[in-house]
Amino acid sequence: MKQDTLITTAGRDPESNHGIVNPPVYHASTIVSPTLAEFREARTKRWDLDVFTYGRQGTPTHQALEVATAALIGGDRSVCMSSGLAAINAAMLAFLKSGDHVLMVDTVYGPTRSFCDNFLGRFGVETTYYDPTIGAGIKDLIRDNTKIVYTETPGSLTFELQDIQAIADESHKRDCIVMIDDTWSSGVFFKPFEHGVDVSVIAGTKYIVGHSDVMMGMITTKDEYWQQVRQSASALGANSGPDDVYLALRGMRTIGVRMRQHHENGLKIANWLEQRPEVERVLHPGLPSNPHHELWKRDFTGACGLFGVVLKPYTEVALAAMLDGLDLYGMGASWGGFESLILLTNPASTRTVAKEQWQNDGPTLRIHAGLEDVEDLIADLEKGFERLNANS
Ligand SMILES: *Cc1c(COP(=O)(O)O)cnc(C)c1O
Repeated sequence: MKQDTLITTAGRDPESNHGIVNPPVYHASTIVSPTLAEFREARTKRWDLDVFTYGRQGTPTHQALEVATAALIGGDRSVCMSSGLAAINAAMLAFLKSGDHVLMVDTVYGPTRSFCDNFLGRFGVETTYYDPTIGAGIKDLIRDNTKIVYTETPGSLTFELQDIQAIADESHKRDCIVMIDDTWSSGVFFKPFEHGVDVSVIAGTKYIVGHSDVMMGMITTKDEYWQQVRQSASALGANSGPDDVYLALRGMRTIGVRMRQHHENGLKIANWLEQRPEVERVLHPGLPSNPHHELWKRDFTGACGLFGVVLKPYTEVALAAMLDGLDLYGMGASWGGFESLILLTNPASTRTVAKEQWQNDGPTLRIHAGLEDVEDLIADLEKGFERLNANS
């Protein structure tokens, strides 16, 4: 089945619900069993499909989203969590114990870094950050106690691509679990399990929900790691609510067509920015000038709407004049919704490896190209640049 067909069909079963296209929203804490034998049986099979024992372990609504997610990402099983960060924490804690070592990509999403430094450290798990472009060179950093090699491609804020297959090959030689934060592609343009990944985490909050109104996370694994991951997810208790699950599933049905438009709008804006005199460089792997372009063409079938741009040096006053007057770009955290966003970032502030290249003189912005007409989006930025120049 082709991807768009999978996205619109996976996890659906109208025949068991009066022909109604979408699954009902089951609100549940208690789920009763008619007999002692069935009560016992349900608990021995609690992570199997179609077995429901308690609200925290999920309902048929959760199962519909989880089956659809596994189909989209290309793993065997998925579990949804209350946020992307909850999915990341649960996935990592499924495998770690005191004394273990984590290899973490230096471009990782900030709160994941904070989880490693501020929580895992206190429980005796050491984290080493590595350069996102390391590829097979990861082998020199793997120790006997390295348990997880964690990747995120492209990286947060600066959008370097990682050679996931090369990293996975070396990691597997040393029995490490390869994890990926695949939120940027959300399973649409990159298939992590075809590149050696063992566990994928996604902030469903972004493109899967797609409408900036729900927090959601997903962990997807191969069968081999399912029990461990599912138990961790359950033990941590950060399960998602049924109404949010319903909205995430509704969002997912249109992710294919939305992503194509985000791809097109993002690339058009990135190309336009690259020609502007105010711009130092554009951080978008889909641009032929980008150092990661060949890897992007090899591994990805498209780009989402999120990318970066480094401006030439401007004063805070000039930058504020540009950003404050934008009509179509909101300033705020998150991304992946239908609307455009712009955010001032500071990549060098969190990096510890190859930090120098991000100590730019000018400001770095992160742009999310939404689904508005791209000509309007470019015109809004053009007026922004006029204000930037007028206030310099
Ligand atoms: C937003 C985000 C997360 C966290 O998701 P939440 O749902 O906000 O907790 C994780 N990774 C990446 C790359 C993100 O952009």
